[in-house]
Amino acid sequence: MQKQHYINNGWQPASGGGAIPVIDPSTGEAFGEIARGTEGDIASAVAAARAAIGEAFDGPWGRMSAALRGRLMLRLSTAITERNEEFAQLEARDTGKSLKTARVDATALARYFEYYGGACDKLHGQTLPYETGYTVLTIREPHGVTGHIVPWNYPMQIFGRTVGASLAAGNACVVKPAEDASLSTLRLAELAAEVGFPPGTLNIVTGYGHEAGAALTAHPGIDHISFTGSTVTGRLIAEAAAKRHCPVTLELGGKSPQILFDDADLDAALPVVVNAIVQNAGQTCSAGSRLLVQRGIYETVLDRLSATFSGLRAGPPGLELEMGPLVNRKQYDVVKGFLLQAEQERIPVAATGIVHPDASRTGYYQAAVLLRDVPHTSALAQREIFGPVLAAMPFDDEAEAIRLANGTDYGLVAGVWTRDGGRQLRVARRLRCGQVFINNYGAGGGVELPFGGVKSSGHGREKGFEALLGFTVLKTIAIKHG
Ligand code: NAD
Repeated sequence: MQKQHYINNGWQPASGGGAIPVIDPSTGEAFGEIARGTEGDIASAVAAARAAIGEAFDGPWGRMSAALRGRLMLRLSTAITERNEEFAQLEARDTGKSLKTARVDATALARYFEYYGGACDKLHGQTLPYETGYTVLTIREPHGVTGHIVPWNYPMQIFGRTVGASLAAGNACVVKPAEDASLSTLRLAELAAEVGFPPGTLNIVTGYGHEAGAALTAHPGIDHISFTGSTVTGRLIAEAAAKRHCPVTLELGGKSPQILFDDADLDAALPVVVNAIVQNAGQTCSAGSRLLVQRGIYETVLDRLSATFSGLRAGPPGLELEMGPLVNRKQYDVVKGFLLQAEQERIPVAATGIVHPDASRTGYYQAAVLLRDVPHTSALAQREIFGPVLAAMPFDDEAEAIRLANGTDYGLVAGVWTRDGGRQLRVARRLRCGQVFINNYGAGGGVELPFGGVKSSGHGREKGFEALLGFTVLKTIAIKHG
């Protein structure tokens, strides 16, 4: 499988001639190549996008009515739904995620295009009361050409939420998928062309972050950048964007707490707690990776969770087990590094899952691990591991739960489990994060629900109608008519 960039509704070879191997994480073996994009490819994609939207919103895409834009997006949504299995197979092979998860991702991708397709002609400005003799109105216009840098953990879902919202708002897009997971994105762009998106509306340049990604961030023709990925890279992108006053939305992951009070419905809570860390083998920005448990139920919770964790299996995506392999060697080494540190800090392991006997020895399989009594200051409780490792710790009262929950650099999502209605809202209001789930945990799910962080988890909101607003610029027009 040899893949080129997808620019201006056609395949285009890498201007520098380079290629990047496509690795199957379940075996560690290459099964194809993608183009290694550089500055020249980004320039070509930005030029195509600019022509689609036009210098003054007068290109074929810039002129298109909101209703027609919406219809195209709905057509793409239907085309994705019809190919759910094709997308799921492609994504599972490319990222190692289980087929079950990949099918859910493909369904969510179609839903993003449905949601944002339906929203295109419902996005509007306002008229504002002003002095007598004036009429003042606001118009929501697209930024122009938006750049999207996407990670490898949920390529389809993140494409859907960021590119879906941007296209709906009328922007033309240049997307740089992760070097480890570009295949579904390339197929999507091809499908968008097939259903009728004008050339240049959606352009994909594959390649490494420090080459194609950095060139995209620095390009003067990019009017807005949306990034999902690590805190370190997010900072680099924000710095580069600041040099030319380019607005940025950053979604940078987290260390999200699940807080179990002693009146929690454990039968409801525990399966959700497990899923929130096991889903996608823990490689989820909103993974519930810290478990704060009130002391009175701590041992009961640990016993019950240990029994479940011992039976969790990691294995080839086709077996549809609880987890597939991690995405690449680098991520595998990162997770092993954290586990080694836990050992050195003598943090007790409450339970470890299983690597399935059919798993290739050269694949990147990591069994689920439940750590207990993790000190709040340890890196295991503070840093994003991005693997199936749950760090449990006890707390005594509500004030301590809030202090621990807020006590990291991150602030993305939190789960609160209690039957006490007053406490539910009191705690939710005091948590510093972008989403709080009470007696449930969405793991970032919910196309309609605004999503994003505070502190090192980033800024700006994706998903829901809120994301659409972020992909627009508000223009005020004041008319003096006497
Ligand atoms: P990363 O942030 O380096 O990569 C994410 C995307 O950014 C990729 O497309 C990459 O090519 C691109 N990129 C990298 N350097 C760039 C640069 N200088 N300029 C522009 N684009 C650049 O993440 P990673 O190295 O793949 O993973 C490292 C850690 O990041 C993980 O262990 C995890 O903790 C975190 N992560 C978070 C998310 C999330 O959803 N928030 C997703 C992936 C990774």
